[in-house]
Amino acid sequence: MPVARERVFDMIDDAVATIDASGRILDLNIAAELLLLRLTPGLPERLIGLSLADLLGGLPPADGGEIEVARTDGSGRPVELNVRTSVLRDSRGGHAGWAILARDVTALNRQRRELEQATRDALTGLHNRRHLMEELRREMAAAAADGQPLSAALLDIDHFKQVNDRYGHRAGDEVLAWFAGLLSEGFRRGDVVARYGGEEFVVVFPGATAEQARMRVETLRERVSGQEVRADGHVLRVTFSAGVAAVMPGHSPDDLLQAADEALYAAKHGGRDQTRVAGRPDPDAPHRAA
Ligand code: GH3
Ligand code: MG
Ligand code: MG
Repeated sequence: MPVARERVFDMIDDAVATIDASGRILDLNIAAELLLLRLTPGLPERLIGLSLADLLGGLPPADGGEIEVARTDGSGRPVELNVRTSVLRDSRGGHAGWAILARDVTALNRQRRELEQATRDALTGLHNRRHLMEELRREMAAAAADGQPLSAALLDIDHFKQVNDRYGHRAGDEVLAWFAGLLSEGFRRGDVVARYGGEEFVVVFPGATAEQARMRVETLRERVSGQEVRADGHVLRVTFSAGVAAVMPGHSPDDLLQAADEALYAAKHGGRDQTRVAGRPDPDAPHRAA
């Protein structure tokens, strides 16, 4: 029923419009009128026939599609739109124009960004501790259900206090950001990399045995200790120590991190710049004489 269609058209919250091949408005619903007036104050009362291409700065893509558009309204507030266009054809298959549907996603995007910020550490952009614990819980449950191994590593930068003391807090911050960059490049897609606190980081390796995790951490450790870092105009070197632990039956996330922390403690006491595995003796310790 055309009357019902028209009513429904105007009840839709999303802006819907059709335009001809030159970009002139053929039809639009109330939401589209309101949106156009918000974006371009001072438009004439009758919008049909106006060039939407002129108002929006161009025609939609020839084959339609979906894009996100960022604009400001008449009072300078940001407006983010999700715009879907689909090509309209006449009875002979010629290009007659487009149907356009624009959804205001400003509030949704803001919520998404806030949610994202709540899970990330501001200095390094890595997951924060709270989010790490959620991910760890999830990954441990999945590993238990699939009978797969899972390991975690706790990494702590060596003598980091000295970096701050010698080069300043700003240099320290830059070293942390640099280190976080290496960490997030250095591991696989499914691995969870987080800033655990200060100069301590956690990497969760789903599917990895302790030995596999140890080897991956060692690769990074060699990379880090072999590199110079530029921080606040200084050139310096840092190393880190790491403790690795694999999930044991009955382990909670805290138990796993506790085991990794004990291994880290052993790595620090063993002279730093090294990786230890929980429950394994020092590989370099001299064998005790019989
Ligand atoms: P160790 O080898 O035993 O780990 O020695 P360390 O000096 O690294 O350990 P310690 O725990 O004594 O010092 C950690 C330092 O990290 C102290 C603190 O000022 C610094 N730190 C923690 N968070 C930040 C940060 O966000 N920025 C900067 N610049 N420094 C930080
Ligand atoms: Mg520390
Ligand atoms: Mg440290």
